[in-house]
Amino acid sequence: MDSILVHVCCAPDAVYFVRRLREDFPDARIKAFFYDPNIHPYEEYELRLVETRRVCRELNIELEEGEYDVERWMRAVRGYEQEPERGERCKICFDVRLERSARLAKEQGFKFLTTTLLMSPKKKIEQLRQAGEAVADRYGIEFLAPNYRKGGGTQEMFRLSKEMEIYQQDYCGCIYGLFNQKGEDSLWDLVCTGGRRPGSKEEAAFIKGIRDFAESLSLETRELEFPFTNWHLLEGKLEIEGKVIPSFVEPFSVSLRGVVKADVVKRVGEVLYLSKQHLRIRLVKPFRDIPLSAPKPTAHPTFLVPADYEEEILRGRVSATLRSELRSSLSRVLIVGSLQAEELVAFPADTLQDGRGLERKYLEDYIEGNKNGIAEGHLAIALLGAESYGGLGRRFLEEFSGVKVSRYGYSF
Ligand code: SF4
Repeated sequence: MDSILVHVCCAPDAVYFVRRLREDFPDARIKAFFYDPNIHPYEEYELRLVETRRVCRELNIELEEGEYDVERWMRAVRGYEQEPERGERCKICFDVRLERSARLAKEQGFKFLTTTLLMSPKKKIEQLRQAGEAVADRYGIEFLAPNYRKGGGTQEMFRLSKEMEIYQQDYCGCIYGLFNQKGEDSLWDLVCTGGRRPGSKEEAAFIKGIRDFAESLSLETRELEFPFTNWHLLEGKLEIEGKVIPSFVEPFSVSLRGVVKADVVKRVGEVLYLSKQHLRIRLVKPFRDIPLSAPKPTAHPTFLVPADYEEEILRGRVSATLRSELRSSLSRVLIVGSLQAEELVAFPADTLQDGRGLERKYLEDYIEGNKNGIAEGHLAIALLGAESYGGLGRRFLEEFSGVKVSRYGYSF
């Protein structure tokens, strides 16, 4: 029996390629191998991996995950950082990935090796064929280089990706290609804030992972993307008489000009109003980040500070630094079950600045425990992105579908 190890670079390239392999080699043992240490940052790698898992499960193909040995990849391309795409660096990048794949194919007794990179419209098939044949030769196996792009294959790949709502990356993978393709904007791909902040790669990977889990239980799923104005904190610091005090910055706070030195001039409830640049301090007990209860109509620069610091703040002079930026972003909502279900229970997908948020295990247990109710249309789950920004996910879902959330299964 033929056996084929297929190196997978990403889900969009795999979705049609692996399907065609299955059709052309109906009796072959086919296994996928995700080995892509070229992908930066790690959060992007995770996102592409989770989507690859989903595609392989859908196609009933076994998947092995390779090592994320990014340092080895970096060493291999050293000196070729400035090469254009399709140049020498890409050649080395193919060699690294195919060499590791060929080694695995040999170890596990596969006769053939191939790669979904052959499907990528931006790669040269000839360059890949040469790289693949050279490594396959060294390991005593054969390299397959079918051209599944022709005959409308590329269009079919895009159609299937869209139909399955697969994450569409907008750069090849490595940090050098990213800078070439996106210039200064690429910095935002590399910033990882921890947790799952609204519109982040981490939030997207969480939603995709839950989708994969729900589909593994044969539950219906649907994903809806929505654009929103995102807020990023670049720098924030609050000091009293030279001593830094713990603080969070309320989302959508605007930047301050320079270092602001100000005094408290008024207090209303837990909010202290300062003498310069509309600066505010909100005293919080217990000290933690607070989700916005509604999208913010104003954008006063506001720090959240432990209530225990009240006396120090009133006594001393406050010195504050704050730089933030607004950018357009995408977030998403996942529906598990039918929107026509009797009850729609919502969960926030994002986490707060202090890391608090829904745990994956909790939601997976909830879905599994309610599997029958979801399948029978009594219950549906909505996993909402950017929910800590005044319920943006819920607002989008309700406006888009006309269906109201019945209740929350988790709140911050
Ligand atoms: S641009 Fe793509 S193929 Fe080329 S080195 Fe970077 S990740 Fe590899």
